[in-house]
Amino acid sequence: MIAEDSETPSHGREPQPGPGNPPHTSRVPVMDAPPAATGRLTAATGLEARVERAATALKPRMRGWLHAGVFPLALAGGIVLIAVSRSGAAVAACAVYAVSACLLFGTSAVYHRGTWGLRGEAVLRRLDHANIFLIIAGTYTPLAVLLLPEGQQRVLLAVVWAGALAGIAFRILWIGAPRWLYTPCYIALGWVAVFNLPDFAHAGGSAVVVLVIAGGLLYTAGAVVYGLKRPDPSPAWFGFHEVFHALTIAAFAAHYTAILLAAT
Ligand SMILES: [Zn+2]
Repeated sequence: MIAEDSETPSHGREPQPGPGNPPHTSRVPVMDAPPAATGRLTAATGLEARVERAATALKPRMRGWLHAGVFPLALAGGIVLIAVSRSGAAVAACAVYAVSACLLFGTSAVYHRGTWGLRGEAVLRRLDHANIFLIIAGTYTPLAVLLLPEGQQRVLLAVVWAGALAGIAFRILWIGAPRWLYTPCYIALGWVAVFNLPDFAHAGGSAVVVLVIAGGLLYTAGAVVYGLKRPDPSPAWFGFHEVFHALTIAAFAAHYTAILLAAT
């Protein structure tokens, strides 16, 4: 998490373009840096190695394995959904859902299983958090296309995708935002279509709407565990983050089943 603060250049002395100082020379070559700056770089590299070792030692052993295991299932499930879809619009909507699910579980597995260094960690953490907005909009897409009349469909898709794009920009531009600020944003976007639930029930039947609500509640429970960092059953093996990941898988399974029922 220290990675988030390490993005500003270590020297803020870039010369301004002007007479005798053309714009193309605006970068200070590292070899010209004074000994103090070079020392700082060496210290930063040493610190980076220590932070990596500490992070690896602190990560519960199960970190990332749950999402790594779900990735092939999400991929296969996505292909099944596309295969059973009965219209071009349904195929497109299910493909969007499948891609968002594969990105979510695949990126999470790669991010959480590996040791990436400060820069890699900073990029993967942004993608991991942006993907949560993507899976919310990605899940609503087939639900809207399969279950809502055209006008309502367009309104819901516009709202969730605008919300997701705003959320993605927020997480990418301000990855260091406090947990209490960004976690409720996920919950808010997740429940944005609560007023459409009667329409989902009307078109899809009670099983579909029960599964949509159950999935929403499981994702919300996951967000609460993530926000509170508890319960934390076994910090060495299966911590609060693993509880959160397990809840996202249960939620995904509920929503996948709802979409499969709606599509067939
Ligand atoms: Zn995670």
